[in-house]
Amino acid sequence: MVRALIYALISIVAISFLRMVIGIITRGFSDLMKEETEASRSQQASASSSKSTKPPPTRGELKACHACGTYVVASQALTASSKGETVYYCSQECKARNAA
Ligand SMILES: [Zn+2]
Repeated sequence: MVRALIYALISIVAISFLRMVIGIITRGFSDLMKEETEASRSQQASASSSKSTKPPPTRGELKACHACGTYVVASQALTASSKGETVYYCSQECKARNAA
């Protein structure tokens, strides 16, 4: 009779322990899933934001405007060849001014 009680107690403890372990595992798993979805969400957000807001072209060689001296990115600058070498202009105005 006492032995039965002890077995019952042990089984209750074992079941509660198992439940705790399962709870920890499932919670950890759900946290993992949550982290994964959040990461993918932030990735999507950054992708969409980079699409909508185009960052200014900071990469590339800077060239001084031949007319006013303003530095412009070579890929964005207006170019003209003068005496066999390429000269850069920040704007059409500068190009026209220098040509005049
Ligand atoms: Zn200029």
